[in-house]
Amino acid sequence: MAKRLIVKVPDPILTKRCREVEAFDERLWTLLDDMKETVKAANGAGLAAPQVAVLKRVCVVDTEDGYFELINPVLKTQSGAQTGPEGCLSVPKKYGTVTRPMKVTVLAQDRNGDMKKYKVNGFTARAFMHEMDHLDGIVYTSIATDLMNEE
Ligand SMILES: [Zn+2]
Repeated sequence: MAKRLIVKVPDPILTKRCREVEAFDERLWTLLDDMKETVKAANGAGLAAPQVAVLKRVCVVDTEDGYFELINPVLKTQSGAQTGPEGCLSVPKKYGTVTRPMKVTVLAQDRNGDMKKYKVNGFTARAFMHEMDHLDGIVYTSIATDLMNEE
């Protein structure tokens, strides 16, 4: 495993749409292992592959509900709403207010290519949506209703 450099705004790579993963091979596993080390070291709630300069539909989420590896994730259902503060490892020292669904169901493949269904809510649902947005080139600052500097 190796820690990777986190891409920061305004790098245009963060605005690109990522490609589907087709090969569930050692290269993918290395990426996933490196992303785990990187997100843990940065104390983040999640990390998406474009944030380490890889334009693939891969993201990880790390919350009190567990550690999730999502490959080719697709939002299936959403319900409710939550409005609260959000930050991003690619946007240092800032946070903003974002409205997200309260509960989501997401279908995603695991590192072996097997399809999994995740039903998450609250902060974990927020983290899923934030990371999945990255795969479509969306950084939360473009959907936040305000943006503030961290104290
Ligand atoms: Zn982010």
